[in-house]
Amino acid sequence: MFDSIASALRGANRIAVASHLRPDADALGSTIAAALWLKSEGKDVTAWNEDGTLTKFHYLPGHELVSTPPATPEKFDVFLILDTSVKKRLGTVVDAIAPGALWINMDHHVSNELFGEINHVDPSAPATGQILFEFFRHAGVRITPAIATNLFAAISTDTGSFQYQGTNARTFDAGSALVSAGVDVATLSRAMYESQPKRRFELLRFALNRAEFHCEDRIATFSLTLEDAARLAVLPEDNEGIIDNLRSVEGVLSAIFFEELPDGKVRVSARSKDPAIDVCKVCQIFKGGGHPMAAGARVHGTLDRVKQDFLKVVCDEIRKRD
Ligand code: AMP
Ligand code: MN
Ligand code: MN
Repeated sequence: MFDSIASALRGANRIAVASHLRPDADALGSTIAAALWLKSEGKDVTAWNEDGTLTKFHYLPGHELVSTPPATPEKFDVFLILDTSVKKRLGTVVDAIAPGALWINMDHHVSNELFGEINHVDPSAPATGQILFEFFRHAGVRITPAIATNLFAAISTDTGSFQYQGTNARTFDAGSALVSAGVDVATLSRAMYESQPKRRFELLRFALNRAEFHCEDRIATFSLTLEDAARLAVLPEDNEGIIDNLRSVEGVLSAIFFEELPDGKVRVSARSKDPAIDVCKVCQIFKGGGHPMAAGARVHGTLDRVKQDFLKVVCDEIRKRD
């Protein structure tokens, strides 16, 4: 598979690279790493994300390569899609790709819908950055310090700093090679993990005060209404990682974050701490997806309704395990 992807990319002139909306560092780091490589091969590269590069990811070298998609479609030879399990999570990027491009889908979500013409989906990889690293190694790509930094950020964040399920010797092998290629681990880690805006800290303070425990204290939840979000003046991107504080409690097997959205939907973000509780399966019931231990969905309904429905399914899963 890597060979056919490498030859499709090397044989193309105009290439678009994109990843999922509300991007994380795996989505953006992978997008930027791919764009940097393709540029170095002399390609005409366009990198898009529906949300552009959020300010909090400006530590990624080359972030200025990523822009928001235009309103009218553009022609490409290849459309490379990274870290995106379903087409709809590309958001408005899809409308900017004129028909005729070859869609290459590289991802690590077990729930990937294989919507590309070439699909390389490896759920055993803890990050798309890991897949890209292995692809680069296979294709003989020279990993510059900037590419290495983007891939390291992708892997570090998706593995919770090399901690989560799926982190194995292969992950540290990639980490080691990337550090050898020029990653400044301390500087990058400070930017990733110790530079949150005060605004986000206030959200965390609020979340910890409002945390609830359900299902004999085995589920921890936090809900954010539109009103709370407006009062705290938080940005959507501030939510990332808040849930990890709920999951950290001993005895909690699943943490769930419910966020009221302006379109009448609720964004559910779910985490598991026990491989027997597969939150991806639960999210798929609600038309979402993700990974067995970290998944999400956007569900129609009020915050309370969605919360009750979702909690019931997760609690049933936990009781099945008992
Ligand atoms: P999050 O909770 O937003 O950090 O997402 C956790 C994982 O679930 C990520 O790998 C996402 O790509 C995936 N995910 C989140 N929301 C959705 C959704 N609405 N549909 C499909 N996958 C999702
Ligand atoms: Mn992602
Ligand atoms: Mn990922």
